[in-house]
Amino acid sequence: MKSKVWLSSPHMGGNELKYINEAFDTNWIAPLGPNVDGFEQDLEMFLNENVKVAALSAGTAALHLALIECNVGHGDEVICQSMTFSASANPIAYLGATPVFIDSEKDTWNMCPVALKEAIEDRIAKGKKPKAIIVVHLYGMPAKMDEILSVAREYNIPLIEDAAESLGSKYKGKACGTFGYFGILSFNGNKIITTSGGGALVCHSQEDKDQAVFLSTQARDDAPHYQHSQIGYNYRMSNISAGIGRGQMEVLNDRVQGRRKMHKFYAEICKDIDGVDLFSEPSADFYSNHWLSVITIDETKTLRTCEDLRLSFLEEGIESRPIWKPMHLQPIFQDAPYYGGKVAENLFGNSLCLPSGSNLSDNERERIAKVMTEVFPNKKKHSVLR
Ligand SMILES: *Cc1c(COP(=O)(O)O)cnc(C)c1O
Repeated sequence: MKSKVWLSSPHMGGNELKYINEAFDTNWIAPLGPNVDGFEQDLEMFLNENVKVAALSAGTAALHLALIECNVGHGDEVICQSMTFSASANPIAYLGATPVFIDSEKDTWNMCPVALKEAIEDRIAKGKKPKAIIVVHLYGMPAKMDEILSVAREYNIPLIEDAAESLGSKYKGKACGTFGYFGILSFNGNKIITTSGGGALVCHSQEDKDQAVFLSTQARDDAPHYQHSQIGYNYRMSNISAGIGRGQMEVLNDRVQGRRKMHKFYAEICKDIDGVDLFSEPSADFYSNHWLSVITIDETKTLRTCEDLRLSFLEEGIESRPIWKPMHLQPIFQDAPYYGGKVAENLFGNSLCLPSGSNLSDNERERIAKVMTEVFPNKKKHSVLR
């Protein structure tokens, strides 16, 4: 039996167990301890913008707390990129607020700044100013942050950056996750580094971080007994998970290089196939961790669909996956307002995520390349006129 080739699987560095053993040796088997503190410091150093990081149980939990700290409540509206994973939008619904979805632009596939401005003006005209904006750096590709921040600032609406897929990505040299009022990270098993499950809230003041830690540990007031004047959550990261995180931080730069190498591997294959385009950085301002490599297929040229390729991969034990289905097309959000055109919708129909892990072997890459060259036999004509 051939081994299964996964889209994105955990890739340990080697020292994770050392940190876990330390936790056992010192009996810090709890949602606090030296690994939690150490992991937060590692992330703060890595992101390098004077940020304060709170380690939490999930990226989804981080988004939930970010929205709470932006005072989002029942009946409010929150703007959110439509093309993303559902976890970007679900916390809006947890709070009884309504998501307002925004189309993508074609360069980065992320939130379109023009549609964003149009949405804000229309929501204000309809009587409700949005309480927050959630922008996502999809598949590691930084969004157009200058344009989006300038709209957010113009209307004085806090920006929350969903950097769950983009740890290690940069826009104009600055780390994704550090641009917004809050940033969120995920360390789920499929992300560029993992703690088996976990997330973090990136803050710009100690006060905001303290508030996140307070809310994530059941919102207990300062008293000898258990006293509560706010609703709390059980969202703090465990010291065991954080031990995995500390080991992973030692190899994060290698993991970014490994994923970028996978992107180069696909670029080599795609450059010879007419009608297959690899999703790539639009200019030197954008530095993607290439968490996942994604291709767009022009069916009129290839005479093959994404589904054809997905099924051919599947037969060879290789996992691939359609890109995120836009939230405004999801049954659960069908009543939510939407601004933009069909950019996200069209990308969704024609794009496929390919195996992108930093731990794929040469043999596994050969298997992938073989399927792709068999499914797409039509070679690009390298004419001087092109
Ligand atoms: C993974 C992911 C999340 C959620 O993170 P969890 O740690 O799994 O809760 C949120 N947004 C995006 C875009 C993601 O890819």
